[in-house]
Amino acid sequence: MKKLKIFSMILIVATFTIFFVMLGEVSVPKVSAPSEILTPLTSVHVPVLIYHYIREVDPKKDFLGADLSVSPKNFDEQLTWLEEKGYTTITLDDIVSAWEKGTPLPEKPIILTFDDGYDDFATNAFPILQKHGAKATTYVVSSFLDKPHYLSTKQLLELAASPLITIASHTEHHADLRTLKMSKLHEELINSKSRLEKLIGQPIRHFAYPYGRFTNGIAQETEKAGYSTATTTLFGYNHTPKNRFMMRRVRIAGATSISKFEKLLEPDLQ
Ligand SMILES: [Zn+2]
Repeated sequence: MKKLKIFSMILIVATFTIFFVMLGEVSVPKVSAPSEILTPLTSVHVPVLIYHYIREVDPKKDFLGADLSVSPKNFDEQLTWLEEKGYTTITLDDIVSAWEKGTPLPEKPIILTFDDGYDDFATNAFPILQKHGAKATTYVVSSFLDKPHYLSTKQLLELAASPLITIASHTEHHADLRTLKMSKLHEELINSKSRLEKLIGQPIRHFAYPYGRFTNGIAQETEKAGYSTATTTLFGYNHTPKNRFMMRRVRIAGATSISKFEKLLEPDLQ
């Protein structure tokens, strides 16, 4: 009698368990795999390299010019090294998208930026970037267009048509923004943006402070002017949405050998 009672109890529990498991299978919606859920990334580790000229300069004749210039051969070698080490060049928009939407970044992302809008970006850097399929951002000073040694409007339009190139602003006159009155500061931020936008027919979303000089107030005005990011010359690799108008970079100088380049990018592995 007692055995029968225990058997009935087990039978009832088993029936209910089977019933609820079946119910669960029918009514509980399938949860997406974790990889399908995108969460905004708060901090991203992306080296943002600063270049100026890509050209040959004899340091004995022009020391400062040589310091700002990476030879086409060295630049080519650096891009080859990046490829071999598995880096993928991304854009500043990719970082913004990672912050805002959680869009995943490649395993070893890197950003190449060029300050001042020199004409050798079109004649020397661009063919090497194309050879490697590498993306880059050029920060253009809008009033310098068509001046000797700077990009021409024609070159700017050719660059803007390439999916590899992001055109960005480096003010209207390359002024030290800390020295300007508010109305002049607004002109430097807004006029350069609207002139470049009118020329290339694309939005200009990114900005670099001339000489890397800025204050908290200037950073706030840059945001108000409608930019998405602003880069400095401060050294660093990590970027957060909070610091998007004070982004840090890694300067590549004329004398940066390939071993120094390696140390700058992978300091932990040395
Ligand atoms: Zn500059």
